[in-house]
Amino acid sequence: MLGINLSGRRALVTGSSSGLGAAMAKTMAAAGATIAIHDRGRSAAAEAVAAGIRATGGTAQAFGGDVSQRADMDALFAAMDQAFGGIDILVNNAGLDGARADCATSDPDTWQKTIAVDLLGPYYCARLALQRMLPQKRGVILNITSVHEFIPWEGYSAYTSAKAGLSMFTKTLAQEVAGDGIRVLALAPGAIRTPINADVWQDPKGLADLDEKIAMGRLGEPEEIGNVAAFLVSDLASYITGTTLAVDGGMLIYPDFRHGG
Ligand code: BGC
Repeated sequence: MLGINLSGRRALVTGSSSGLGAAMAKTMAAAGATIAIHDRGRSAAAEAVAAGIRATGGTAQAFGGDVSQRADMDALFAAMDQAFGGIDILVNNAGLDGARADCATSDPDTWQKTIAVDLLGPYYCARLALQRMLPQKRGVILNITSVHEFIPWEGYSAYTSAKAGLSMFTKTLAQEVAGDGIRVLALAPGAIRTPINADVWQDPKGLADLDEKIAMGRLGEPEEIGNVAAFLVSDLASYITGTTLAVDGGMLIYPDFRHGG
């Protein structure tokens, strides 16, 4: 039977105490990976996700640290070295949409924070991961971007800029390390039912509006991202690098063009 096998692989999934991160961590654990659960404050929720994985026979431990702080990430990777002896898979998932504000009225500190978490954080983590992956000539870095690496989104210029930047970061790193047994790729989720957009999908009008933007007419579920992420970091995807896979129910195929045009 063809299956995803991640046994012997040590994976860090940033921002995995909830939402997509938790779903990806659980799926990768179910495929046999040893998992570092992470959120900024090593919260009770992060501990609970790790405990849940252990309860189903997997291996997981919770870690903390702010991805936008270089010293925190140095400490996180050192702690992972201690606990697991290194890293084979990095999933740069931690991120935030940021507050909605048009550029002219936006708060520069908020803009900067969004870039720091969504773009600088993945850079710090990728840098530290590659320092460990290059000598072992093995590793995968999966950057979680968004359909907004492609689609402009009014009021979220920091977020869209960070995600488009993360896409080019992905391609550049992939080029740098393709000859070293390391793959770097991106997954672009569409609208998935997670806490990040709960204010929209919990509101019937917001949900109806969102569904219209999706060709399949429904939100995605976190597990639908977890399954694809586990495949992408596995050897089944051994020939995929330097590209983004959209998992978006058809948000990027302009469903509005079913009419008119
Ligand atoms: C955002 C969500 C949004 C989705 C579709 C994601 O990148 O985080 O808040 O619902 O894109 O617009």
